[in-house]
Order: sequence, then structure tokens, then C-alpha cells
Amino acid sequence: MKVFLNPGHCPGVDCGAVNNDYEVNEAVIVREVGDLVGDYLRKAGCEVKLLQSDNLAGENPNYPNVCASANNWPADVFISLHCNAASAGQANGTECFVFSHWSASDRLAACIQSQIVNSLGTSDRGVKEGPRLIVLHNTTMPAVLVELAFISNDADCEKLIERKREFAAAIARGITDYIAAERGE
Ligand SMILES: [Zn+2]
Repeated sequence: MKVFLNPGHCPGVDCGAVNNDYEVNEAVIVREVGDLVGDYLRKAGCEVKLLQSDNLAGENPNYPNVCASANNWPADVFISLHCNAASAGQANGTECFVFSHWSASDRLAACIQSQIVNSLGTSDRGVKEGPRLIVLHNTTMPAVLVELAFISNDADCEKLIERKREFAAAIARGITDYIAAERGE
């Protein structure tokens, strides 16, 4: 099983969402979580490629192209990692986006969503459709964009800072749960 991991944004170029009180940004958090997910998945026998790049689908030729890399490999599943943010500080929780419901992506997302919510205790915002998200629109395999938690919410942000290993283990378990289910194990 070939898993392509895409931590969102790009440290030094596009830091994503920030929490100035905690002096953290999304690009750095999701990179650390992504590296840990890769470690867990390799131990579980998966092949893993990880790419964090300021070029999702050809818009910035100075950086490697995320969707083309996944499609050309080709990956069996694609996971993009992000942190949510909102101007309302109370907004919190975990959600996943897929191109459309009732799909392999939807089943993969449900596995990841339940593992994160159950192990981290984040609010369950569910699996949603995001057909315009570039990484979902331009990939050819089951693909999920995971919003781990809200960097703009204090309780969620503390989890993102202190419990990266648990986020990573939950995501890796979600992926292996999906693989086992698809194989009929
Ligand atoms: Zn993001």
C-alpha cells in the first residue's frame, strides 16, 4: 500500500494559519505530524512519500508539484494535513474533507475522523464535501484533507502542540483501518 502524505502549506513560504499567543503556525505543526504519520505507516508495512510544497497542482513551478507527484507514483491513498482556523475563538474540533460522499475517499475519511475524535477527544465536526479543494480535485486516488483541530482555539491548539504523536498515531490507524476494510479483513 502506497500512502502519499501532504502536510499543508510550506514553512518559510506560506505558514498557513497562526496562533500568535502560542507562537505556532500550521505549516510547522502539520509537517511534524506528517513525519510521525510516515514513521507509523512504514512500521505497519506501507510505502510512504511525504511532500510539503508551495505547488499543489502546477501553480508554482519553482517547487515540486504535489498532485502530480502523487498521481505519477501512483499513490493508493492521498492524505493532506491541515489545521483549521476561525475568527471566532470558540470554534473547535476535527473535520475531514472529501471530493464527494459515498466514495472510497468518504470511507477513508470516516476511519481517520473517528480515530482522531476518539483518541484526542476533539469535537466531531464530521466528514464534509470539498470538491473545489485543489488536492481533492486534482488527485486520481482516494484522497482526504484532514483538518486536525483549530489552531485558533486555545484547547485545540494545546493539543496540536502537546499531542502530535497521538494525532499521528490516530491518522495512521485510520489509514490502516481503511486498508484492512477494503481488503475485507
Ligand atoms: Zn491549511
